[in-house]
Amino acid sequence: MPISTTTSTRPTIFPILLVVLLSALPSVAQAVQPKLSVHWEELTAADFREGIHRSQGTCLLPFGILEKHGPHLPLGTDLLDVRYAALHAAEKEYAVVFPEYYFGQIAEARHEPGTVAYSRDMQLALLQETTDEMARNGCKKVVIVNGHGGNESLLPYFAQTQLDKPHDYVVYIFDRRTPESGGPPKKTSIDMHAGESETSKMMISRPDTVHIDRAASESGADQHRQNLPEDVYTGIWWYARFPNHYSGDGSAATKELGKYQMDWWIDTLARTIRAVKADEVSLKLQNEFYEKSKHPLDTQP
Ligand SMILES: [Zn+2]
Repeated sequence: MPISTTTSTRPTIFPILLVVLLSALPSVAQAVQPKLSVHWEELTAADFREGIHRSQGTCLLPFGILEKHGPHLPLGTDLLDVRYAALHAAEKEYAVVFPEYYFGQIAEARHEPGTVAYSRDMQLALLQETTDEMARNGCKKVVIVNGHGGNESLLPYFAQTQLDKPHDYVVYIFDRRTPESGGPPKKTSIDMHAGESETSKMMISRPDTVHIDRAASESGADQHRQNLPEDVYTGIWWYARFPNHYSGDGSAATKELGKYQMDWWIDTLARTIRAVKADEVSLKLQNEFYEKSKHPLDTQP
């Protein structure tokens, strides 16, 4: 009897079990870790909510520019490179990445074709409204990832002015693109714009846009056209030294250097995202500061 019962039930139970298992496995796996895009613009509204939750409110704003990059690199070099680094870093340590943003400081390239240079007030207003809108959508930790040397004064200034009135979020600036040492030895000493490093990185992020055969068709040498002590700053310094928006020699670029530098950039940024997620102090201190700044005479030493 027991034997016949077993044999008669096996043909019906086994396929049912199999179907249940097969249908349950993928959904169990999905429930544990559904794949979420790191691109803000690719998420559905519901997935965006999940993305903000998973990123612990940490969002990246990769900041590029449109300007000439020597005779051989595209106008959007800084935008393309910084987005490549930011998107890959966010894949390693989940964060929501804001869409293309290139509304920065580039007055010094207005004489070159293809430059888009917004006015000072517009740059600050647009950046403030952008981070405000990000924060309103749950990005309480906004990491501005700078891809453009001309923003190096703008961004710390922007961060400092977040103290002028209360904000319920923190702006973090990450402004490193190139390691100071290590990797394949470099062949050039001047390497500030469209030179060996930047051209090498573009060979990784967008090799199809690199015209390496044109890299030596213009000079990226320092023209030293201003005679002032080093500690005196003028807005025309860059034009005085590198009027052709080329500083260095892109023809020295290699994929090996590009891979080393891009990997370094991605790893360093992923570590930064982790550190920002773990930061529980900055917003608390900001709030304490805003409160005290309402009645400075009560502040004790
Ligand atoms: Zn650049």
